[in-house]
Amino acid sequence: MLLWHQKVGKTDYLAGIMTHKPYIAIIGAGLAGLSCAYYLEKAGWKAILYEMDGRVGGRIQTDRLEGFLLDRGFQIVLSSYPEFKRLFKPQALQLKSIPSGAMIYYDKHWHLLENPLQNPSFLYYSKDLPFIQQGDLFKVVKLYGSAWLSSFDSSQPPQSTGDFLKQTGLSSSFIEAFWRPFFGGVFLDLDLQTQISTFAHLAAFFATGLACLPAEGMQAIPLQLAQRLKKSHLLTHHRVQAIEGQQLVLSTGEVQAADKIVLATDAWQAAQMDSHLSAPPARSVTCLYFALDQDALSFSPYLYLNGMRQGPINNLLFNSITQPTYAPSGQVLASVTVIEPSWQNHDNLLEAVLDQLETWFNVSAKKWRHLRTYRILHALPAQVEAPFNPYAFLEHQPHVYLCGELVDEPSINGALYSGRIVAEKLMAEH
Ligand SMILES: Cc1cc2nc3c(=O)[nH]c(=O)nc-3n(C[C@H](O)[C@H](O)[C@H](O)COP(=O)(O)OP(=O)(O)OC[C@H]3O[C@@H](n4cnc5c(N)ncnc54)[C@H](O)[C@@H]3O)c2cc1C
Repeated sequence: MLLWHQKVGKTDYLAGIMTHKPYIAIIGAGLAGLSCAYYLEKAGWKAILYEMDGRVGGRIQTDRLEGFLLDRGFQIVLSSYPEFKRLFKPQALQLKSIPSGAMIYYDKHWHLLENPLQNPSFLYYSKDLPFIQQGDLFKVVKLYGSAWLSSFDSSQPPQSTGDFLKQTGLSSSFIEAFWRPFFGGVFLDLDLQTQISTFAHLAAFFATGLACLPAEGMQAIPLQLAQRLKKSHLLTHHRVQAIEGQQLVLSTGEVQAADKIVLATDAWQAAQMDSHLSAPPARSVTCLYFALDQDALSFSPYLYLNGMRQGPINNLLFNSITQPTYAPSGQVLASVTVIEPSWQNHDNLLEAVLDQLETWFNVSAKKWRHLRTYRILHALPAQVEAPFNPYAFLEHQPHVYLCGELVDEPSINGALYSGRIVAEKLMAEH
């Protein structure tokens, strides 16, 4: 990718580009903006990306600390995401997968729940799990079918994931032990108010794919995509303050014209720039990282879930057991995710987390070396509204196209997908 001031003068660039193709300005170099630029470039077009941060990737960032890889908030990429598979071969990112299923803390013990869709023999020996009642696992198969079908039926009234799960007849103990902490962790919404259409898509991806971590951390995904851009121009530290017709007003006061504008920021920044958009309520999350000595390797590579909704921790993963590059040799990295807002705001969160870790794993709190805590206030938009038709919404006002979570689910797949459809729409209209 070219850097504006290094490679071209502004006048030369605009003169060159405007003689052939429309001048496209993309606001935001997260996955959605990068995907849009990539698909435009693939078809011989170019764009200018305005990014307020010093680097690409948006909400997908990885920090290095003492040889550990710390993603800014626990994240995974699913091998079943169709848009991800379009762009990346697994070996390019050296993905390692977490086994499908979960370790569930219930009745003061850990229980392994495997994914019956990926390991059908589990249907037989799951009967010993205390939170599973007769027929629960067979209902799961039915549940996937009806969730998927209802997501295409726009005549259905909007329904929350929580209500839908109850309606399918799953036992309340199964919902509380697995579905609430698992999908509550995915949506950052333990009340499961998220719309069933979002649940349907993500549940299908989880059922058919594996959760993976790249060798260089999650940030490798946007970085590799950015590295493929050869002709587009990236302007980092360029914050767009407002969109006025076909003009971008930068925070410096500078005004730049464009033929088409792609708004690929998060929903809250977009609402600040464009008065036609409203900011959705935000889901927040707090992620704490801990280092342990190698003896923690006796722990499982599965995702650990809080099946009792007691204490601050919702889910935990020993990231480096799955992907050894996440920790220096001889050490193990654990990520702890806290979702309940009252716990995130708690004065003694760290102490409460350490207490829970000691109880859960019978490993003294002194052995969990706290590395860093990330508090992400605007992690995901709440998806409690009825679903809308993204295609109808795409060209939001003349010359302004919406991208990312403004038109699709707030996920890696949704960001990549929205970037592609906006690029295709721009090219189709030319
Ligand atoms: C903690 C956490 C965990 C998650 N876990 C998962 C997961 O496991 N799996 C999954 O699929 N998804 C997950 N997600 C969601 C996923 O990361 C996002 O949906 C996706 O990265 C959003 O990409 P985006 O490009 O649409 O937006 P962003 O990544 O937010 O990118 C928008 C970009 O726009 C820039 N920008 C904003 N305003 C301006 C402005 N005024 N001017 C210029 N630039 C601007 C920002 O700096 C940013 O770079 C998670 C998100 C978080 C926060």
